[in-house]
Amino acid sequence: MDKELELLAGASLERSLRVSSPVFGSPGYTVRGDQMLLNLSSNDYLGLAQHPAIIDIMHRTLQSEGAGSGASRLVTGNRQPYAPLEAALAAWQNCEASLVVANGYMANIGAISALVSRGDVVFSDQLNHASIVDGIVLSRADHARYRHNDMEHLRSLLNKHRDKRRKLIVTDAVFSMDGDQAPLRELALLKREYGAMLMVDEAHSGGVYGKRGEGLCHELGIQDDVDIHMGTFSKSFGIYGAYICGSRTLIRWLVNKARPLIYSTALPSSIVAGISKALALVQADHWRREKLDAGSRLFRDSLRSAGFITGDGGSPIVPLIVGDNELALRFSSALEEVGIASVAIRPPTVPAGTARIRFSLSAAHSEKELTEAAAHIRIIGHQLGVVSS
Ligand SMILES: *Cc1c(COP(=O)(O)O)cnc(C)c1O
Repeated sequence: MDKELELLAGASLERSLRVSSPVFGSPGYTVRGDQMLLNLSSNDYLGLAQHPAIIDIMHRTLQSEGAGSGASRLVTGNRQPYAPLEAALAAWQNCEASLVVANGYMANIGAISALVSRGDVVFSDQLNHASIVDGIVLSRADHARYRHNDMEHLRSLLNKHRDKRRKLIVTDAVFSMDGDQAPLRELALLKREYGAMLMVDEAHSGGVYGKRGEGLCHELGIQDDVDIHMGTFSKSFGIYGAYICGSRTLIRWLVNKARPLIYSTALPSSIVAGISKALALVQADHWRREKLDAGSRLFRDSLRSAGFITGDGGSPIVPLIVGDNELALRFSSALEEVGIASVAIRPPTVPAGTARIRFSLSAAHSEKELTEAAAHIRIIGHQLGVVSS
């Protein structure tokens, strides 16, 4: 282990844990050591993580329901706050039923491994989240990876696997390290043509897109073609947990087959009640989406016009592609010195040679903060030779 860790460190690929603390009253900031930093590395897209109404209901539920749920949902952990939340989720997504699970990672490994097994095939975008990849490995189904957003490649793989028993196409709606979107309309057509199931992970798009934050599938009007609609409460909802929405049959199947639901303790009631409040705010506070969208545009445009490579996205995730691992680390430390928290994302999270700074924006950031941050980024980019002057 020591030898391999030295190799990782030598290649600027070692990761380590650092303490970050919130700044109450300033949700767009974080504290590291004794320094307050503009937080451009959080997934709290709508700025809800400190919302007083969410904290209040969590507090009250903690008093009435206690700390832990004590057991799996199928034993005695299915406490009172789950049912109203799952009803509200189904109404929000306009689907028959929903299921709340502990987190997005478990939702993906649980759903995929419950739906397919040996003799089946999963078609998965090569940039899909690691939890999707792990779900496929766990399921023992064939893993047919298609090139990122390449529908011709997907079609050729669908042809190749025509005779498989079950076929599942799975994609992130917004890709977590690039901020670009999946071609969901084309995926919906292919799924029909080939008789496959379609699963969409809205971890980064739930709350962010749609009139009431339903996600990108609703925004594009293809929600009825999505068989397994998954999202998390850990990003734009500002809390923790995840949902799966779909048909009554799907949810009944998952309750019986999804091992992370069956063999793991239920979320504490305080979290479940907090999610319900966050769901109401996500639906009602459309201004948060508008502010986030305006800030994302402003920030991305100013990096692009400074000559940075920021990919094809249009979401609150703005990657600044640097290429070299060590350079990405130096960029991130230089930003920290001027008061900006940003993470250097390196392989294996992203393909080799595409190390980057991944900025993620929030409705908590003001136009002024983002303009100033972009100015710092431009100066450091010139100093480090990432862009030429
Ligand atoms: C963050 C993320 C997950 C995991 O969600 P958690 O609730 O944090 O476990 C799953 N899929 C994607 C695309 C993600 O970005």
